[in-house]
Amino acid sequence: MDTSSALPPHGGDDRLPTTIEVLVVGAGQAGVAMSEHLSAQGIAHLVVERDRIAERWRTGRWDSLVANGPAWHDRFPGLELPGVHPDGFATKDQMADYFEAYAARIAAPVRTGVEVLRVRRLEGRAGFAVETTAGPVEARYVVAATGPFQRPVIPAIVPSTAGIEQLHSAAYRNPEQLPAGGVLVVGAGSSGVQIAAELRRAGRDVHLSVGPHDRPPRSYRGRDFVWWLGVLDKWDAATPPAGAKHVTIAVSGAGGGRTVDFRELAASGITLVGRTTSYADGLLHVADDLRATIDRGDASYLSILREADAYVERNGIDLPPEPEAHVLGDEPACVTHPARELDLAAEGIASIVWATGYGADYSWLQVDALDDAGRPAHRRGVSTEPGIYFLGLPWQSRRGSSFVWGVWHDARHVADHIAIQRAYLAYASDADHPAAPPHASLAGAGAIGTEH
Ligand SMILES: Cc1cc2nc3c(=O)[nH]c(=O)nc-3n(C[C@H](O)[C@H](O)[C@H](O)COP(=O)(O)OP(=O)(O)OC[C@H]3O[C@@H](n4cnc5c(N)ncnc54)[C@H](O)[C@@H]3O)c2cc1C
Repeated sequence: MDTSSALPPHGGDDRLPTTIEVLVVGAGQAGVAMSEHLSAQGIAHLVVERDRIAERWRTGRWDSLVANGPAWHDRFPGLELPGVHPDGFATKDQMADYFEAYAARIAAPVRTGVEVLRVRRLEGRAGFAVETTAGPVEARYVVAATGPFQRPVIPAIVPSTAGIEQLHSAAYRNPEQLPAGGVLVVGAGSSGVQIAAELRRAGRDVHLSVGPHDRPPRSYRGRDFVWWLGVLDKWDAATPPAGAKHVTIAVSGAGGGRTVDFRELAASGITLVGRTTSYADGLLHVADDLRATIDRGDASYLSILREADAYVERNGIDLPPEPEAHVLGDEPACVTHPARELDLAAEGIASIVWATGYGADYSWLQVDALDDAGRPAHRRGVSTEPGIYFLGLPWQSRRGSSFVWGVWHDARHVADHIAIQRAYLAYASDADHPAAPPHASLAGAGAIGTEH
């Protein structure tokens, strides 16, 4: 392995080297995984991170967040999560500590406190000119590992002049942070349902505006849903289900992990409403879609149970039957007779938490790797601009791509691709260099025929 340019983890603001073979932007789990696979290929690289390693796990989430997947699953292959039972759910700080420890363990050459400001193509030769807060660097290859969830998105529905506190789930930390009074949580993916439940437990009046979601069983027949999605080959699905660009999975590891059930949320006192559509004069309008949305979520839940049963039967596996899991309770009144509008003042709603997802910001990446809408143009992370790669994108190669274990596998593919390209470039024919040493070998790139 060529470690000649492997720099020790660094916290300072020293200048960067003037050239580097591969520059990885971002030291979240994606950047750390990328470093491991580049090192395994013997490829010199540097990871630059504007904050700290795994900063988004450390400070970009609410206080009580635990991982959505159990510790045996939501980790990299090379290291277990210390201090967490394999079937338990790591806290966000344990996750951040884990990636820090992992980076140290693999001696990842990370420079923290360095932001990449701009990447442009070099003129007349391969590679990229990179401007950073620690000076310029030329990189032959650049991997954008800046996260699947970069820029919080709040739909332009309630104006800031409406006199109500509004924040994105990315800025939510705990119930005490919000002004006294009721809360409307918009969005019922993993973030929205967990935040709504926490606010309700804290004694708040809570409305939850529910959009399309899948809600797998937390566990079924003694196996966690992450296992079922694995054996049923759903993590590896290459594209979202037809008709859905991205369907949120409503799942939670909170409280030891329980199936997200909107009936239970309603029974706890949360008022469910449909998708938030518009606002005028203190009135928030919601779509007439709540029942259909809940029914679709139930259908996704039941279909996993059926597929799981079929899998058990087909493979003759001894897992305890769980017929009661197929029985759904009655739909609550807020679902059978849903509100179509909310008078925020009359309902006592003093704040809105928008758990409405994230967008991307690649304005720093000034190369031909983005589509007209500014989204990555790529195939499994290999962009349309030769030499530029993405890692950690939602659905980069499969459903699991933005999750801890999935990004590790995508990183291997990206590193393989870089290694293969380097092997081609290392080729020298006898005509080029009559006295040249043996020809470059693609097999030596460790990549041809490697599938995962
Ligand atoms: C609330 C929430 C809970 C989640 N729970 C789970 C879970 O339980 N299990 C799971 O597998 N996944 C989970 N995920 C999904 C995913 O694992 C995380 O989003 C994870 O943080 C993604 O890692 P990443 O390295 O791809 O991106 P990030 O963690 O976002 O890291 C990207 C890094 O790039 C840095 N960066 C950005 N721009 C620049 C720049 N220009 N220059 C230098 N540095 C830059 C950022 O500071 C950041 O540290 C969750 C996501 C959310 C939002």
